[in-house]
Amino acid sequence: MNIATLMDRLGVPAQDWQDGPLESRSPIDGAVLGRVAVHSQAQARERIEAAHQAFLQWREVPAPRRGELVRLFGEELRRHKEALGHLVSLEVGKIASEGAGEVQEMIDICDFAVGLSRQLHGLTIASERPGHRMMETWHPLGVVGVISAFNFPVAVWSWNAALAFVCGDAVVWKPSEKAPLAALATQRLFERACERCGEPQWAQLSQLLIGDAHLGELLADHPRVPLVSATGSTRMGRAVAPRVAQRFGRCILELGGNNAIVVTPSADLELAVRAILFAAVGTAGQRCTTARRLIVHEEVAAPLLERLRRAYASLRIGHPLEAGTLVGPLIDRAAFDAMQSALEQARRDGGRVEGGERVLAERFPEAWYVRPALVEMPAQTDVVRHETFAPILYVLRYRGFDEALALHNDVPQGLSSAIFTNDLREAETFLSARGSDCGIANVNIGTSGAEIGGAFGGEKETGGGRESGSDCWKAYMRRATNTVNYSGSLPLAQGVKFDL
Ligand code: NAD
Repeated sequence: MNIATLMDRLGVPAQDWQDGPLESRSPIDGAVLGRVAVHSQAQARERIEAAHQAFLQWREVPAPRRGELVRLFGEELRRHKEALGHLVSLEVGKIASEGAGEVQEMIDICDFAVGLSRQLHGLTIASERPGHRMMETWHPLGVVGVISAFNFPVAVWSWNAALAFVCGDAVVWKPSEKAPLAALATQRLFERACERCGEPQWAQLSQLLIGDAHLGELLADHPRVPLVSATGSTRMGRAVAPRVAQRFGRCILELGGNNAIVVTPSADLELAVRAILFAAVGTAGQRCTTARRLIVHEEVAAPLLERLRRAYASLRIGHPLEAGTLVGPLIDRAAFDAMQSALEQARRDGGRVEGGERVLAERFPEAWYVRPALVEMPAQTDVVRHETFAPILYVLRYRGFDEALALHNDVPQGLSSAIFTNDLREAETFLSARGSDCGIANVNIGTSGAEIGGAFGGEKETGGGRESGSDCWKAYMRRATNTVNYSGSLPLAQGVKFDL
């Protein structure tokens, strides 16, 4: 499908994506896919105000009715899964099944949110005073600002937006400037859901801000935005968090990862190789949960690496929409340069680099395809401790389990982690208080590809935010503690007397 057919199928009018100063370029071949208008600061403020006005109405709509809109949005996504997934592939270079998988993730979170719309319940709490009842109620919060990264150009928004909508909030979205078309298409599908719901004005609940980091800063600073959910690099989080804190707003930060897989002597190596492969080279190493470090026991290092080398050698790298391709392109030249400079540093640190070179340069002179790199390191040097957003897997060997845990946790980031072991003690220790310090810790599965039902996010420089399933919805609401006195007297708490 070419881009015009896709955008037509997704219902985005030509003038919205064919005329404007912001170019969307496909990392597949460097071709310009579209040109999009950019919002000024004044327009962005107007959109935030429009979202706020929509919120004032929406907060009074019963939550299950709000869920009905999200259900219809999920249906639009089902209907357009192939087209939107294809657009994601064109715009950020994901292989077809990962593009479709991203849309499936949006559908899943919509389903989750629909159920949640009947479960936004608080507690009843025992009061110390006779004839009193205490309870907790959850109210809509306001406008939720969403800043998203290029690598999950639409799913990250949906994790936030589906919950925010059922919680009674409006959403203002600043998508990555590298993926404006997927954002426009998603917005259009949301508008269609509002039309199908018979309430086209509800489209105001979702506002798009197209532009660069300055619009993200405006969201961070705006007093009408009580919650900013920001996904991207740790550098971005460092800039956004203090700005939001300055005005006592709240943040959900989903920042960089530096995820490791520990392979112990009892591990099922076949399983481990398959998991490592998907985690390390899937999405061309451009997932926040990509496995970037392999911490392997010296007894199994040789057989594991031999299998891994064989697997790496048979990876098909190429056009992400061609059948059989497993590794698509890097997003742009800057990503390629960052990868090369990390590999040079690893060599200087005594690392043995295999792969990492540019491939397919003749077929795609304007695109950046690489052979994923395997790098055996003598130690966990600074370059290993840094997130390079490309397919580099650093291999470190260990002898004792405590050494593996120490290496594992000795990085600034704390997103995802995994251990391959058939030893119950090792598995449980890894998941225990003295084990992995990450927000996600897995046994016998890789670091990436989380389901939406759990809380997603990580510790330390990953930012501490949690999104998606479990009880993450609470971040999108404000909590009120209510005490009702149904007695005829007025006892004070803690036995305080204050009588005239
Ligand atoms: P990025 O930080 O360059 O950009 C992300 C978004 O932030 C973009 O929309 C950008 O315009 C905006 N932005 C950048 N600087 C800003 C500022 N100072 N103020 C406000 N907004 C600003 O990240 P990227 O290259 O698009 O994505 C890759 C990064 O995202 C990686 O570090 C990856 O680990 C991380 N990521 C994290 C998660 C997670 O859930 N933890 C998920 C996806 C991606």
